[in-house]
Amino acid sequence: MTTVVPIRNTRVMLVDVPTIRPHVLAMATMSKQTIVLVEIEREDGVRGYGEATTIGGLAYGEESPESIKVAVETYFKPLIQNCDANRPASVMALLNRQIVGNRFAKCAVETALFDAMGRASNLPVSELLGGRQRDVLPVAWTLASGHTAKDIDEAEQMLAAKRHNVFKIKIGKRDIVKDCDHVAAIAKALGDRASIRVDVNQHWTRAHAMQGIARLQYAGVSLIEQPIAATDVVGMHQLCNRFDLAIMADEALTGPSSAARYIEALACDVISLKINQSGGLTEARKVAALAEVAHVALYGGTMLEGGIGTAAAAHLFSTLPAMEWGTELFGPLLLTEELLVEPLVYRDFGLVVPSGPGLGVVIDQEKIAHFERK
Ligand SMILES: [Mg+2]
Repeated sequence: MTTVVPIRNTRVMLVDVPTIRPHVLAMATMSKQTIVLVEIEREDGVRGYGEATTIGGLAYGEESPESIKVAVETYFKPLIQNCDANRPASVMALLNRQIVGNRFAKCAVETALFDAMGRASNLPVSELLGGRQRDVLPVAWTLASGHTAKDIDEAEQMLAAKRHNVFKIKIGKRDIVKDCDHVAAIAKALGDRASIRVDVNQHWTRAHAMQGIARLQYAGVSLIEQPIAATDVVGMHQLCNRFDLAIMADEALTGPSSAARYIEALACDVISLKINQSGGLTEARKVAALAEVAHVALYGGTMLEGGIGTAAAAHLFSTLPAMEWGTELFGPLLLTEELLVEPLVYRDFGLVVPSGPGLGVVIDQEKIAHFERK
């Protein structure tokens, strides 16, 4: 029996960091990323960190960096104050009873509790989650400059540096033929040296998807992510039936219930597993379990988190039986500033899962103070 260690304080920081280049998505163009950090301090002085970062303010989901800060400081903090920090499951059960939705905020709080518990017990979060099955995760890179030549050049640099050989191309913003020509040109230039996938971020109609995916399949694309609206389960099922390449659900998945619905409806070949979208590490693990029993493949997704959120996802993913499609845990590499004292290690096309206590990473307090929104 562990001793009771009350939660003493909860704090949220919004940290604005420029991206290395404009990141062009169907729903937003990002030139900076707002890293949302939650710090939980325990009575014994141990502090843990979690991340609730999202994409493009309110362009991706219904939680924004600003709303997460207000929600955690106004509603989460008083509820969890003095709760036993060594019982994350009990704290999360309380939050899930009292607070509807707010999955990103819940994920950050749960991560911070696990990080602190790991530091206090000298165990990595992966060990608290059952122990890892691998120490390195393959990592894809996203080509999202919007320019064909620039994207090819960027991919060539990544291949030469042995950093990535899986590329996800963001489309959906432009005319369908232009978008597919852009992808085909990149696929042709890289040939069999790389795996090419595409993310449409829900921007096609069913008819456009039929037309676009046929072109992309011919161009050698291996996977299409969320081509149509997240709510269109029947449409996704039709696409899975019609095409040989893999259809992945992403925005459609907001935790175990929606994953179960998609799996039951045979509406995806692959699930993009995200800790924030799922509502935390435990909820994401339930999604992974649903996929496993249904023989649906997994892909480790990102909300372009910085080092804390990326490390948290890596710890969970390392414990899962299989990640057939690898991961896209490259978030910190898109930022101009390193927010960790020791950066995460990317080498030989993979991310090394940190092995120190808790998340195994330490945030650079000076950098955070400098970039924190005042
Ligand atoms: Mg996506």
